[in-house]
Amino acid sequence: MNSSDFADKSRRRAYQKKKVLSAFLKKFTKEKPSYGKKVMKESEQVAWALIDCTSCGNCCKTMTPTWKKAEVNRLASHLGMTYNEFFEKWLMVDEETGDICNNSTPCQFFDLEKGLCGVYERRPHDCATFPHLYRSDFYDQTELYASNLHRCPATLAAMEHLEQAVKEIKKKK
Ligand code: SF4
Ligand code: SF4
Repeated sequence: MNSSDFADKSRRRAYQKKKVLSAFLKKFTKEKPSYGKKVMKESEQVAWALIDCTSCGNCCKTMTPTWKKAEVNRLASHLGMTYNEFFEKWLMVDEETGDICNNSTPCQFFDLEKGLCGVYERRPHDCATFPHLYRSDFYDQTELYASNLHRCPATLAAMEHLEQAVKEIKKKK
């Protein structure tokens, strides 16, 4: 299966499950169960055992990372450019959030043929940590997970596992 077939299949599945998973995430966030951290960690591990980002690349093709000024400076200097040259060519400020973002998609550094990031070692922290699954403030991220279900197969796999795991725990109580 090529990467766009893989992303299409996952997107269709996400749209089928979106309502159920979004409702689950809302409830999960409201209840904040004591076992939440453990199951979220386990769900992330399950997702990464199932999903290989190199067979997907959908975030690099369709979304934009947010850049910190230091990250722009670091990569611009590596490419022999000034901050302003780099910014003018590839970036913009999101009017709503004030974040520095790419000005187009796919990402200018994504190699569409190889399906790989061309600046992997110097990619922004936002790319390195996307889709931000297991982290200390994961209960604050659940709206983001719901909105990424159709964009990110790893998020979908993690949330499907999370929902089932919570269901099993509740059944045993
Ligand atoms: S910098 Fe690399 S990892 Fe980040 S969006 Fe661009 S291609 Fe993807
Ligand atoms: S993080 Fe998600 S959207 Fe990005 S390549 Fe991996 S599975 Fe695909």
